[in-house]
Amino acid sequence: MGRLIAISNRTAADASARAGGLAVAVWESLTSTGGIWFGWSGNIVEGEVGEPDVFTDENVEFVTTDFTEAEHDGFYLQYANRVIWPVFHYRVDLAHFGNTDFDTYAGVNERIAGLVVPRLKEGDSVWVHDYHFLLMGDFLRRGGWQGPIGFFLHIPFPSPEIFQALPEHERIARAMCEFSVLGFQSKTDRSNFVRYLVENYDAVDEGDGWIAVFGRKIRANAYPIGIDAEGFAKAAVSERATTAATRIGRFLGGRNLVLGVDRMDYSKGLPQRFEAVGKLFDHFPATRGVVSVTQIAPPSRSKVEEYRDLRIQLDELAGRINGDYGDLDWIPLRYLARSYDRRELAGLYRIARVCLVTPLRDGMNLVAKEYVMAQNPEDPGVLILSEFAGAAEQLSEALIVNPHDTYKVAETIYQALEMPLEERKARWTKLRDIVVAQDITWWRHKFLDDLSTDLT
Ligand code: UDP
Repeated sequence: MGRLIAISNRTAADASARAGGLAVAVWESLTSTGGIWFGWSGNIVEGEVGEPDVFTDENVEFVTTDFTEAEHDGFYLQYANRVIWPVFHYRVDLAHFGNTDFDTYAGVNERIAGLVVPRLKEGDSVWVHDYHFLLMGDFLRRGGWQGPIGFFLHIPFPSPEIFQALPEHERIARAMCEFSVLGFQSKTDRSNFVRYLVENYDAVDEGDGWIAVFGRKIRANAYPIGIDAEGFAKAAVSERATTAATRIGRFLGGRNLVLGVDRMDYSKGLPQRFEAVGKLFDHFPATRGVVSVTQIAPPSRSKVEEYRDLRIQLDELAGRINGDYGDLDWIPLRYLARSYDRRELAGLYRIARVCLVTPLRDGMNLVAKEYVMAQNPEDPGVLILSEFAGAAEQLSEALIVNPHDTYKVAETIYQALEMPLEERKARWTKLRDIVVAQDITWWRHKFLDDLSTDLT
């Protein structure tokens, strides 16, 4: 494979940002082939945007651009995060369809394509990431690039009925078909996209990922993203992890920990989860006083307004539960609206008897995979996983729940708390095997192999 050219909203230009799963995968791919990484610098400037910032680290060149205030607002805050994000997470009711935001969104895609095209050479492969750049393939082609372009969508792709609520759905779908290889997190996402093309544009699913549409052939497949599995298992026994586990252990005082870790986002199903916890204490009195639920919920910066509403809802629900059941030495449910270092999280996962991963919709959900890798093999905890998380397709040995069915979730928490060691071990072993086999390195090879065998 020749050089790899990555495009994503944020890059890992700052070495400390290379700790996250995706950043690691892209960085490793780029260093193995040499290449360029394009993205936003993180700066917002008044007036016009200047020349991009260009610098090299190892054999990777970074080209980052500032955004104007109008771009940051229309592209990032509005169209990407208040239109595409909610619609792709099946929340058309939360989408804010403005008049001009799509134009700004398209404008940023076009402007960044304009930085990329002159730097491309024959033999290069382009790899575009996520919902910020759905139109990038189209603009790269218009700029004259005919080589392979891969695209990976990190969030779900909704069913056609939902996607069609986007006023610009046809423009977006046509642009997406300019990519040579389209990667989705799950088979469900992939089949939603293909069904949309088949129903609206007489596309033909030719098997083995190939789709004939708009007079050409593209490839669309599921490539479920993985984590640095071995690295995470090590993090869970690091000093930082052990310190965090000891701290929460003092708070627990021997009680069982039920843990949730999610950005505070409406896609994560936090109110439903809190209701389920209320029902656990209502209907399963044996859990009172012996189970503590901790929810870690760092706020999302890009979704300020929705976050405010969610926060009020969670405060009310937690207040009700703690008011009804709390005691002098026991807080049944607490949530911490702040973020923790990944190694600290690893320590918390390790001592949590149960992990609640119950989003209403989620592209993949890496917390589920991290929880699995952090367990003590001699005494593993139980993962409760929403059927609407991409991870559910791989992690079928978790206890799979419908997050809307809050009584059933409560019952499942109880079942998890009561699960005998033998069953916990049997389930966990299967989960671990899949998380290890389909880790972040497996994911990038699977995607890049398909991109390099592309027939473009
Ligand atoms: N995370 C973190 N600190 C926190 C909460 C979460 O580092 O306080 C990390 C977590 O370890 C995971 C990621 O954020 O790697 C969340 O990824 P996931 O796929 O679960 O959800 P997303 O936030 O991407 O929707």
